[in-house]
Amino acid sequence: MKSYQICCLPGDGIGPEILAQGVRVLEAVAARCGFAVRCENHAIGGVAIDATGTPLPDETLAAAEAADAVLLASVGGPRWDTTDPAAPRPEQGLLGIRKALGLYLNLRPVHVFDALVDASSLKPELVRGVDMLIVRELTGGLYFGARERIEDAPGKGVDGAPGVWCSDALEYGEGEIDRVVRFAFEAAAGRPGGHVCSVDKANVLGTSKLWRDVAERVAAENPDIPFENMLVDNCAMQLVARPAQFDVLVTENTFGDILSDEASMLTGSLGMLASASLGSGTPLFEPSHGSAPDIAGLGIANPLAQILSVALLCRHGLGEAKAADMIEAAVEQTLNDGWRTRDIAAPGTPEGCILGTDAMCDKVLERL
Ligand code: ATP
Ligand code: MG
Repeated sequence: MKSYQICCLPGDGIGPEILAQGVRVLEAVAARCGFAVRCENHAIGGVAIDATGTPLPDETLAAAEAADAVLLASVGGPRWDTTDPAAPRPEQGLLGIRKALGLYLNLRPVHVFDALVDASSLKPELVRGVDMLIVRELTGGLYFGARERIEDAPGKGVDGAPGVWCSDALEYGEGEIDRVVRFAFEAAAGRPGGHVCSVDKANVLGTSKLWRDVAERVAAENPDIPFENMLVDNCAMQLVARPAQFDVLVTENTFGDILSDEASMLTGSLGMLASASLGSGTPLFEPSHGSAPDIAGLGIANPLAQILSVALLCRHGLGEAKAADMIEAAVEQTLNDGWRTRDIAAPGTPEGCILGTDAMCDKVLERL
């Protein structure tokens, strides 16, 4: 029997509560699909700062590097907020582990469950059937370019006086683009009716012209998969005007950051969105939401984003696609049967159908 080592990072806030549900689902699906998982918890974020003084202890990184996949919950909280720039911050643990594992691509599925169309920020008829996969480049572009700041730059102040001048460099190499676009086409090939939309600003930016050249080259190697380019401003509009047109959407780091947050609102709740970060090292899977300190410890957090991140872990981390399909189907059935956590309960939902974190997971497990 195949056996996989999973490095579990519960982190802070609601993290430990929801991670435990993810592990229950992973163990259950493994038993049903005939593989074994060994899950081991390690510290990251605020709890790691408290225990060791650093948000990413060497021991945690070594465990992540040695594992087949990392399952993370969330890090951070007001307890570690400080104005001291030298103090360690929980978020550094997350950035640090992504960087150390060489995770250059982020996947965010945006799936609107039929049972939740009323929870969306948009009209139900617009979001019904939305099922897209956003593929975002994660380690290049503006966020990683050289930064400069000059305090007294001549002519840069108000009315031509000396003033502050800043610049952020936007850079891409074709190899960085190629590996991400190639992944998007592979993902589309595995989806029924899969097609790819590459998003850029090629009418203005040099990096986007390169992006478009590379995307068209990869598209030409995949003639069976429908492909289009779209300018990012148009895409921002199309996402709210006609979101169901998209299948796989691939784009650079900054555009992807903004568009994926925009798209997340189509589903109505942060508590439903999972993400995967893939690259050269151990892949990492986590909910898209944060540590929700306002509800930590209350047992009411929605575990579904974490559970859906376990589905991504099975599909993209372990190659166990059937297990992933089973988890997604069980979540869908749970929602169709009317079970809700408070964050996704429409007004008028019977109190008896609103469950806490563990009980919601129980319903998913029954349906597995
Ligand atoms: P971060 O900076 O870590 O991204 P954030 O400040 O953006 O965090 P979250 O921690 O994601 O925010 O929380 C935003 C809001 O969404 C909060 O009110 C929180 O309670 C709610 N929320 C987030 N995740 C969940 C969840 N799994 N279940 C229920 N509510 C959630
Ligand atoms: Mg946030």
